[in-house]
Amino acid sequence: MLLDCIIIGGGPAGLNAALVLGRARRNVIIFDDNKPRNAVTHQSNGFITRDGIAPTEFRQFAHQDLRKYPSILTRQERVTTVQPINGVFQAVSEQGYSFHARSVILATGLKETLPAVRGIHDYYGKSLFSCPYCDGWELRDKPLVLIADHESAFFLAKKVYQWSRDLMFCTNGIPLLTFEQKDKLYRRGIRVMEQKITALIGAGGMLKQIQFEDGTAVDRAGGFVTPGWTHASPLVDMLACQTNEMGAVVKDHFGRTSVPGVYVAGDTSFQPPAQVIVAAGEGCKAAIAVNTDLVEADF
Ligand SMILES: Cc1cc2nc3c(=O)[nH]c(=O)nc-3n(C[C@H](O)[C@H](O)[C@H](O)COP(=O)(O)OP(=O)(O)OC[C@H]3O[C@@H](n4cnc5c(N)ncnc54)[C@H](O)[C@@H]3O)c2cc1C
Repeated sequence: MLLDCIIIGGGPAGLNAALVLGRARRNVIIFDDNKPRNAVTHQSNGFITRDGIAPTEFRQFAHQDLRKYPSILTRQERVTTVQPINGVFQAVSEQGYSFHARSVILATGLKETLPAVRGIHDYYGKSLFSCPYCDGWELRDKPLVLIADHESAFFLAKKVYQWSRDLMFCTNGIPLLTFEQKDKLYRRGIRVMEQKITALIGAGGMLKQIQFEDGTAVDRAGGFVTPGWTHASPLVDMLACQTNEMGAVVKDHFGRTSVPGVYVAGDTSFQPPAQVIVAAGEGCKAAIAVNTDLVEADF
């Protein structure tokens, strides 16, 4: 059976794309191997009507919605290859099943690399985060740390200052800041520590203290880090979608990529802000683009 669309990735982007296409009476399949970026956190904030929801609960609600539409198939497995064959797309799953469709939405998300500090993963998603719009409110007015390993951290520090004035900026031994930037931070009472961090101390993911190589120990209740991003799956490259020098997928306003019939939505496109509501919105837009292009081809 030739499907209208194969959606790869069942986070907010892929799920919302499936919803919109199901309601448009399109035959779609959505694949997901359930390794979302926010699996490390207990709570997802900033989505109106869903503020503070657990990511797993968000997905349960989404699947409840999808079950209302008979033309949506869901599969809990990874897609290993996707390629154009004779004018359609073929996706092959980990278990060896193959599906064909006239279009593909890539909603596979991204993978993060955290600054090289031992034990940092124990705290990420619990008291250390990457996005103040997502988690700044819960950390407001607390003694915070910013653990940074690239230049964007200065801009993040300016933002985080909106949530807490008690901020310490740690470069973990990397000379990241210009004299002028350090001066601006000092003048606002933001302490800059350029030594290597030797230990993060805390319990159950809740940070209590940071220790440095000269023996200094500073109490901190949480904070933010600057993660690096890579694509969560090689499918963007497999389909030869054009990317720019930052790794962002080149796309139009609706998520159409440089490859006709291939669309991106959510974190996959590498274009901030990377948030649940934005990913869901992009899923909606990509689905509308898929349906529009199929209508134009067929009518
Ligand atoms: C610690 C942390 C806290 C966050 N807190 C918030 C918050 O409070 N509010 C907020 O709005 N945002 C928050 N975010 C960001 C938010 O999680 C992401 O922006 C959002 O999940 C992106 O949705 P997505 O659908 O693009 O990708 P994802 O949610 O990452 O979903 C992608 C899915 O695709 C699947 N997948 C990948 N490759 C394949 C494949 N080949 N085959 C099948 N499936 C595949 C993955 O397993 C995954 O389930 C947070 C992120 C982190 C890391």
